[in-house]
Amino acid sequence: MTRQPAEPLLLDYLIRAGGIHSMTGETYRCVGLRGPEIVAVSADLAGLDDLAGTGTAVIDAGDLTLLPAFADSHEHLMEASNNTLLVPVDTARSIAEFTGVITAAASDAAPEEWILTSISWHESNFAENRLPTLAELDAAAPDHPVLARRGGHFAVANSAALQAAGIGPDTPDPPGGKIGRLGDGGRDGTLEGGAVYQVAAFAPEPARVKLADALGTTSAAYAALGVGTIREPLISLDEFLAYQDARDQQLLNVRVRPMILIDSKLTEDAAVALIDGLGARSGFGDDLLRIWGLKFVMDGGVEGAAMEQPYANRPGNSGHLNWDPAAMTRICGEAVRRGWRVGTHAVGDRAVRTLLDVYEGVVAEVGPVPPWTLVIEHAMLTDAALRDRAIRDGFGVTVQFPVLWNMASEMLVTWGPDRTRQITPLDQWLAAGASLAAGTDIVRPFNPMTNVWGMVTRGTKSAGIQGSEHAIDVATALRLYTVGTAALNHEQHRLGSVTPGKLADLVGYPADPLAADLDDLAELTPAFTIMGGRATYDPDKRLAP
Ligand SMILES: [Zn+2]
Repeated sequence: MTRQPAEPLLLDYLIRAGGIHSMTGETYRCVGLRGPEIVAVSADLAGLDDLAGTGTAVIDAGDLTLLPAFADSHEHLMEASNNTLLVPVDTARSIAEFTGVITAAASDAAPEEWILTSISWHESNFAENRLPTLAELDAAAPDHPVLARRGGHFAVANSAALQAAGIGPDTPDPPGGKIGRLGDGGRDGTLEGGAVYQVAAFAPEPARVKLADALGTTSAAYAALGVGTIREPLISLDEFLAYQDARDQQLLNVRVRPMILIDSKLTEDAAVALIDGLGARSGFGDDLLRIWGLKFVMDGGVEGAAMEQPYANRPGNSGHLNWDPAAMTRICGEAVRRGWRVGTHAVGDRAVRTLLDVYEGVVAEVGPVPPWTLVIEHAMLTDAALRDRAIRDGFGVTVQFPVLWNMASEMLVTWGPDRTRQITPLDQWLAAGASLAAGTDIVRPFNPMTNVWGMVTRGTKSAGIQGSEHAIDVATALRLYTVGTAALNHEQHRLGSVTPGKLADLVGYPADPLAADLDDLAELTPAFTIMGGRATYDPDKRLAP
């Protein structure tokens, strides 16, 4: 079959391939691009030849299989970009290596400049298997405040950082936080929860110009893995400006659909005032940078998700909820009335249940809403009743298998083996008729094919297979990761499949993912990536005419 434009026109690109999976059921052999769009497709290898002129780049890629570029439903491109501006301690394998990197950074830094480390380090990777001490950080950088955050809610600081943040021997623990102490009452440099944010508030934010550059280089690393669109799940208004800088300077190598955080620490009135003051609504922007909506965070993660049953390793603890449901219902209702979409982080089953209460309350107030207006982010733990409720109400769900892939060992400890196996049961969701969109949420460039492999095998990084009965097939995984996310982004008419009239976001692979051996799938990487008819990754110049 051949679909050509009504008016004959010459193509900018004619790409012939071993196979082109449209994601809507068809397989083509060639695709024609003009400007930023796909304008013609054909199942016949020569089917578009009469649309090629002297200005057409004809690319013979019979060894490649083409797919629509991946669209990540939930990935923190901003935080991943921010991380590249931090002092890189993540690969340290001993305390000496860790402090050595800090000393080197301090020697390059201006006097009293803060040394802020990357956050993906862990003491279990050190030969000593312990945290660095306050004294070791003081010795590493005596004249610079050092804040070594580990993940989102824990850090080790040196004396200069504590001093800069005004934390003295008698400073009490902040609400929801803990300033670590030695046996003699002195501080040990560790900071938990609110204490991390208390100190971090004194550290400088990266300048917007640096951030825009970092968005450029980091988005290129995602494009190199076949990603065309990222729904960015949590940014501040300043970070939104950095995105606009990156867009204006043509630095972005992926399309971005940001969500603006509505902090649970805001009062109801302050949250409504903030939304009112945004002066825009969901959908504003262009094909490259378009506001998705607002973000709420209902509970924590592996160590703080709100559960119906206690944690496996802490019987007195069942996680925490950040929002009063009545307050959140009012704020969300006001947001939806103003044309905003809302996505809410809800990981544990108690958080999902509470969020369903909130969203149902919103619909009761404002009336029915279009699909993918009220979205559940993660919904990692659910039972059939919760899933049926979300589906009956029409609330879509974004799912991120790589969180299980990456954290399964920790989850086995905190949540126990039964709950870990039940995380994100894609088969159950789909059998019940859910709208799902796949993504990663892993805060660094992650191979989408490793994600697909995970959805298909339920394999994890270091805890084997978890819940093999919840596996789905490759075609379904690819669909959730392309057309699924396009629907989430209200762009199914514009993105997600290889269809004339849609934007030319394509990725070419040296093997057909639908036919490849599962063992090879996890390592499969692209030969090229195209976004809007422009190569965003093409190391072998396959797209050069
Ligand atoms: Zn996230």
